[in-house]
Amino acid sequence: MARIKKGDTVVVLSGKDRGKSGKVLAVWPQRDQALVERLNLRKHFERRTQQNPAGGVIEREGAIALSKLTVLCAKCRKPTRVGWSSAEDGGKQRICRKCKERV
Ligand SMILES: [Zn+2]
Repeated sequence: MARIKKGDTVVVLSGKDRGKSGKVLAVWPQRDQALVERLNLRKHFERRTQQNPAGGVIEREGAIALSKLTVLCAKCRKPTRVGWSSAEDGGKQRICRKCKERV
């Protein structure tokens, strides 16, 4: 089970966006990378198209290594590590290691 999943709010631990947080837009567990809203922006040069006749430079999120991200707990508002506890249905659920709330 993935430590970080789509829709989580995460904090960046290292790199130029260190300390910033954002919402996870996509996760690629096989590549150990995630895309986070408004973080790690890269400039892309867009070709002129019918939808975008002007073309030009746009900013788009770049992939960030999962090891540089940690979940921001929605309950205690702190960057935290996630733990696992057994759910009622026998599966696992993620919990915040700080406040022990389900995340
Ligand atoms: Zn918490």
